[in-house]
Amino acid sequence: MAERTTVLLAEDDVSSRRIMAHLLERSGYEVRVAQDGREALELIGPDVHVALIDWMMPGVDGVEVCRRLKEVTGGRAYAIMVTAKAEKSDIVHALDAGADDYMTKPVDHAELLARVRAAERVAVREHRLAQAWVQARSEADRDALTGLYTRRVFDEALAELTVKPRSAPVALLMIDLDHFKRINDTHGHRVGDEVLRAAAEAIRSEVRSGTDIAARYGGEEIAVIAPAAEIGGAEELAERIRARVEELRLVAGGTLVAVTVSVGVAALQPHESEHDPARTLVERADARLYEAKGAGRNQVAA
Ligand SMILES: [Mg+2]
Repeated sequence: MAERTTVLLAEDDVSSRRIMAHLLERSGYEVRVAQDGREALELIGPDVHVALIDWMMPGVDGVEVCRRLKEVTGGRAYAIMVTAKAEKSDIVHALDAGADDYMTKPVDHAELLARVRAAERVAVREHRLAQAWVQARSEADRDALTGLYTRRVFDEALAELTVKPRSAPVALLMIDLDHFKRINDTHGHRVGDEVLRAAAEAIRSEVRSGTDIAARYGGEEIAVIAPAAEIGGAEELAERIRARVEELRLVAGGTLVAVTVSVGVAALQPHESEHDPARTLVERADARLYEAKGAGRNQVAA
């Protein structure tokens, strides 16, 4: 049996919520119902295919829910904003916030289901493509030492993710181990390898699994592609990685090996039209990495 399509419904108005939930359930969808924005944030998961999000909700509004949904699903979930606002500027704002479509209230039942069916076609296809992409990767796509993706996979993925049209920003983290040559010179290459492996593991534990792509970019340089991540979210991820690596406790020859990383963070916005977007993004992240190094290492520059 085919996997059911999961629809997230976020609506603070009780009667609208009941009616829409009933309609969707009767049509065979797996419905996750949130009474407000805060609850919606809790119900967002990478498995959400389609979301119907009320714009006006107390506390956390629909725009924020939409942004978070895109981030968690790596841009794959299809977001339909439901709004009483019909002003053009509001619609532009909703679409800029990452919404794929919008409906105005009062919602027509037949139209609602038709829009969800259309959204489903796009979202389910995107989920399958993403899964296929990950499943198609074999051992040969992994770097033998770190277990991260190879440079070849990185190049392919970045080219694919930055191609126009983009529905969401793409962020890139360039991570470089500080004083790696000194570690090798002082403790030997076996310890150097151990440091790389441990840092790679720390990075892997922080990235979004199934969404972010962590690859060994060069010798002691690791790159993370974060699809559908705003620069702020990517910077937070970079900071968590930096902190986790700093906490590593590796001992060699009875002494503690100090391991830290410098991270450069950059993002490419959906509307930017660069001649070579992948290369542009790498150059931007590299420039930030250079800044982080110059400012004393063990830090993030965005
Ligand atoms: Mg409302």
